[in-house]
Amino acid sequence: MERLIEGHKRFLAKVFPGRRSQFHLLAEMQAPECLFITCSDSRVVPELFLGTGPGDLFITRNAGNVVPVTSADVDGVTATIEYAVEVLRVKHAILCGHSDCGAMKAELDHKLLENLPKARRWLSHVEAAYAHRQPLNSADGDSAELASLIRGNVVAQLQNLRAQPSVAHAIAESRLTTHGWYYDILTGRIEQYDEDAQRFLPLF
Ligand SMILES: [Zn+2]
Repeated sequence: MERLIEGHKRFLAKVFPGRRSQFHLLAEMQAPECLFITCSDSRVVPELFLGTGPGDLFITRNAGNVVPVTSADVDGVTATIEYAVEVLRVKHAILCGHSDCGAMKAELDHKLLENLPKARRWLSHVEAAYAHRQPLNSADGDSAELASLIRGNVVAQLQNLRAQPSVAHAIAESRLTTHGWYYDILTGRIEQYDEDAQRFLPLF
């Protein structure tokens, strides 16, 4: 905790004063252009690898970057998506998975989910990842099987995202584009799912 409090002191002393006018504007409204759906993993820091700041990304995070479609009850992810699309009118929705994802590791080895009844139920949402598994990539080394499933999960959750009524509606009105990304922690690079080629390609 001490580290966090020290960080906050530094923010108030060094960062905030120089950006006071920006925060003055942001204090009363936001107009982010991107909805960003990613995993809760502490190593995934979009502000760092995308160079974004306050007001840029509307973010929802959960274990395994899931977009549930089967839950009868309302959940935090789909409610957040609906608000982003209908109220904030974001232009882009990015679904971002990442290498070494613990949620997908647990999906490959259910033993890791013993004594985790909530996580086990939550991860039933990623089972569709198997149907979209991507070709093994030798660059992923020993993690190639896991990485192929993680990429498959990006494709599966991207479909779930598009199945959200608000998203489907916005796409039909040509005011929203969806993107499926894979972020590699080791190299820092992002791959994007290419719909036509049906595979992941470097973002640029
Ligand atoms: Zn993860």
